Amino acid sequence: MLEDFSAYNPIVPPIKKYLFAPGPTPVPPEVALEMARPIIHHRTPEFSAVLDQTRQKLRPLMGTEQEVLLLASSGTGAMEAAVANLLAPGEAAIYVDGGKFGERWGRILSAFGVTPHRVPVTWGNAVTPEQVEDALRRHPDARAVLMQASETSTAAVHPVEQIAAITRRRDVLLVVDGITSVGVFEQKMDAWGIDALVTGSQKALMLPPGLGIIALSPRAWARTRKPHLPGFYFDLNRELKAQRDDHTTAYTPAISLIFGLNRSLDLIHAETLPAVFARHRLMARAARAAAAALGMNLLAAENPAPGVTGILVPERIDGSRLVRYMRDVIGVTVQGGQDQMKGKLVRIGHMGYVAPLDVLVAVGALELALRREGYDFHSGAGVAAAQAEIAAGA
Ligand SMILES: *Cc1c(COP(=O)(O)O)cnc(C)c1O
Repeated sequence: MLEDFSAYNPIVPPIKKYLFAPGPTPVPPEVALEMARPIIHHRTPEFSAVLDQTRQKLRPLMGTEQEVLLLASSGTGAMEAAVANLLAPGEAAIYVDGGKFGERWGRILSAFGVTPHRVPVTWGNAVTPEQVEDALRRHPDARAVLMQASETSTAAVHPVEQIAAITRRRDVLLVVDGITSVGVFEQKMDAWGIDALVTGSQKALMLPPGLGIIALSPRAWARTRKPHLPGFYFDLNRELKAQRDDHTTAYTPAISLIFGLNRSLDLIHAETLPAVFARHRLMARAARAAAAALGMNLLAAENPAPGVTGILVPERIDGSRLVRYMRDVIGVTVQGGQDQMKGKLVRIGHMGYVAPLDVLVAVGALELALRREGYDFHSGAGVAAAQAEIAAGA
């Protein structure tokens, strides 16, 4: 009974915990076991075989025939690698700032002495092709456009394909942060004309954090050969030579994570990519239906992401307390809002090793927390709506 639940002792951790953060995400047992294997040396045929297979299996997720490179870093390292290898100090670049991760592009550009031209996007909105066209008109010196495919902080998606249609007609590179997009929904890097696509291990790839992943288009590779930014570790030409030609990495790789990735990619390809994408769409639909049934609005109502749902917390309710209660008392981790959305947003991640029925757990926990905060709603309405969506989609 709900009344009994509020007497639950918050000091005693719940016996079972659920992770619905938009990263890191749960790791399948098969993948965890793979990573538990004894460490091997990375200058061996055994490691080379796994590295080659893993890089190959990533290609369909990114929609590319280009070389996919693995870096020992979080996703931000791969973002930094893109900037450091494609731009030069004193050059200018345009970046789409529709949330925390868009803002991060600007900070990386600044850190490297590249002039950042910001395209501001209201949180929750998608950037429009017109905004990007306009920025390119105002800043004809811009050498690149940097954006997110999915802006995780607002749970919104941006129209990458449409932006690529603009950049590929010009001498302007399109650099896309696909960290909550690759493995969640279709990315056609080659067909659309994305010049750099980056992702990380701890979102849809069902791994712990620690791997940065990047692929470049032929024209981006050509750009890397011009004098580029200072830096040592993220030298993509060195990594290309090491990974493509020598079948190892330039420096000691995250060996266990790469073994785990090889296994998680097997799980993804066994499910098939279309089914993986459909599952993410279904989970997102279920989460959105639950929000609507609970009388709550989405931050990105027009362009919601398939990997994470951002639900606005009703006015009088403290979203930070709501999220804390869910985590510490119920044992269900979701994420709140950042910066201007602090205390006002609940973000439910449904990415990677998450099944549609898991969404019922997240929504059920949200209902328990809302009830405790005195929010007025029909108990079970969110769960029922999510369940109906799953039934319709299954
Ligand atoms: C998680 C995330 C990042 C940051 O990745 P780290 O692995 O934390 O460095 C960047 N961009 C997006 C869109 C993300 O969701």
